[in-house]
Amino acid sequence: MGLAESSQGLPSLYNRGASPSLMKCLFCDIIAGKKPSRKVYEDDKVYVFEDIRPQAPTHVLIVPKRHIVDVMHAAPEDADIIGYSHLIAAKIARERGIEDGYRTVYNVGPNAGQSVFHLHLHLLGGRAFRWPPG
Ligand code: AMP
Ligand code: ZN
Repeated sequence: MGLAESSQGLPSLYNRGASPSLMKCLFCDIIAGKKPSRKVYEDDKVYVFEDIRPQAPTHVLIVPKRHIVDVMHAAPEDADIIGYSHLIAAKIARERGIEDGYRTVYNVGPNAGQSVFHLHLHLLGGRAFRWPPG
């Protein structure tokens, strides 16, 4: 692994820590169409696409078009989009026939497994989930 690469093989500029003028965001690039994605849904507020490493038969990411780092860094004006993303998750769950049991997750911080620092709601479904989660 070279100095210019993170542990996930992404350019280091995609990670938190670069100066704002240099910072590149993978999910901003996906939303802008500069990086490929398997789009599931889009409206003026969110862009939804298939997770590249699915952890369940349904695993999509609901991503606000506005760059927000995570729930911990969200501002009061971000409250609507945080909740709205759950309504979009419910809509996709109904469309996919997984409304009998699905899970929505905001990972916050590296210890929770957050690896992309642009807010995203995971929607997982299509299999049984254990509790507590790992
Ligand atoms: P988190 O670990 O909560 O930050 O979630 C980031 C998610 O983004 C992980 O589930 C990754 O598999 C997923 N991911 C990373 N890169 C891509 C990509 N290029 N396209 C789709 N999903 C991605
Ligand atoms: Zn971004």
